[in-house]
Amino acid sequence: MTIPKEINLILEKLRKNPSNFSGRVGFEAYAVGGCVRDLLLNEKPKDWDITTNATPTQIRKLFPKNFYENKFGTVSVITDSKDETLKIVEITPYRLEGKYSDKRHPDEIKFAKKLEDDLARRDFTVNALALKQKIKNKKQETEIIDFFDGQKDLKKKIIRAVGDANKRFEEDALRMLRAVRFACTLNFTIEEKTFMAIQKNADWIQMISNERIRDELIKIFETERAAYGIDLLRQTNLLKFILPEIDKGVSVSQNKHHIYDIYEHSLRSLDEAAKHKFNLEVKVASLFHDIGKPETKQGEGPDSTFYNHDYVGAKFTDRVLKRLKFPNKFIDKVVLLVKNHMFVSDPEKLTDAGARRLLKRVGRENIIDLINLRVADRLGMGRPKEKPYRLRTIEYMIEKVSKDPISAKMLKINGNDIMKLLKIQPSPKVGAILDVLLAEVIEEPKNNNKKYLESRVLELNEENLEVLRKLAKGKIDEKKEEEDLKIREKYWIK
Ligand code: ATP
Ligand code: MG
Repeated sequence: MTIPKEINLILEKLRKNPSNFSGRVGFEAYAVGGCVRDLLLNEKPKDWDITTNATPTQIRKLFPKNFYENKFGTVSVITDSKDETLKIVEITPYRLEGKYSDKRHPDEIKFAKKLEDDLARRDFTVNALALKQKIKNKKQETEIIDFFDGQKDLKKKIIRAVGDANKRFEEDALRMLRAVRFACTLNFTIEEKTFMAIQKNADWIQMISNERIRDELIKIFETERAAYGIDLLRQTNLLKFILPEIDKGVSVSQNKHHIYDIYEHSLRSLDEAAKHKFNLEVKVASLFHDIGKPETKQGEGPDSTFYNHDYVGAKFTDRVLKRLKFPNKFIDKVVLLVKNHMFVSDPEKLTDAGARRLLKRVGRENIIDLINLRVADRLGMGRPKEKPYRLRTIEYMIEKVSKDPISAKMLKINGNDIMKLLKIQPSPKVGAILDVLLAEVIEEPKNNNKKYLESRVLELNEENLEVLRKLAKGKIDEKKEEEDLKIREKYWIK
């Protein structure tokens, strides 16, 4: 177990308290919370928290490079570390659990005298561990302070509330969602009494701001076990308050193309997306892509239909993500994916024109994510993965049409220039000359300069229309085929 030197230095300085010249009374100081839990799990902590019996003023005196946010008495100390997780270390004086009238904010922040009181206000036993660093015979030793059997629960891999779960969730309802989040990120289960307390009090989550809910949800979506986390939300009754639109799909059967109900299919799609490590937008879209199905279902049994569920789903997605205060750019992307998730991916059915329309609707930059959504969707149906060559064919077609059209606009000369140069009125000949020039420039891009093109115009002016047209066509067709071949090779399509 290695404690970074930045943390050791801070703990030591607090313990020795060199600013106190008279009595040299040191402070108590411990690393605490998530960082201790992660150390014991052999994981690298994402950030470091320190708790102490020093007051904010005393802490600030010891660590002049700090910023201070008065709310919880936390002093953020700035270190010289290059490691992101150590640049800022938060030092918070021992705190007491205050009274919560609104199930989310303590009415006042009260400081405590003892470490035990500070640990007692923490949410879960595995988060209520403290680490003391000692120097014994000039050697560093560490001691874990554990008043609530946190180490035992770490071994059992359970999330258990510190003290009475019902009371703790009444103080701060967000803790219910945090229990699910930690179970998901740590791959733990929720201890029975804690679990039952969430089930019973799940509606309290409505007291919590959507921003705080969003932040916990993102942490769930970020793990490879995201689907486990979402299903824990359902089992604990939280889902119907946080994402009622997803909860609505539970037990809603589908038609002959599906073996799973809407909810289970959505969950399995998310699971596939998470296992494939697709990005956050694709993961959220995987869970949300059929969110419009419960509303659009017509009929029952194998022939039931869900017309327009993609469009209705896009609307719902927009509404849900706005409610949860996701950033607009993120929302737009997920909505786009949900709206277009029914795209034709059968190469036999996708025409050039179809590919061009898809490209225009979705944008080149979103095609891969849309294909990834399809991968998750199909696997989530219990079907074998779409054969990779089929998806590559789609990519190839998109790239091909995105190269179209090769147009006369790329020339460094235009129709007006030609008319001026030849002193002629608009005529088919102008177009034909442009076509030949284009063909030649495609072949030899160096030739795309005005001087050269002007000299070629004068030469081509000697040919008749028929000859010009033949010259142009032959060359352009040849070139397009060549480009096509290159793209095909890139995607291994023979
Ligand atoms: P992460 O690895 O996600 O940072 P963490 O355990 O460090 O997890 P934080 O939200 O950073 O979680 O909080 C740090 C510590 O503060 C927790 O370990 C816990 O002891 C305490 N804590 C945080 N939020 C609450 C809360 N709502 N109620 C009680 N204690 C909390
Ligand atoms: Mg933390």
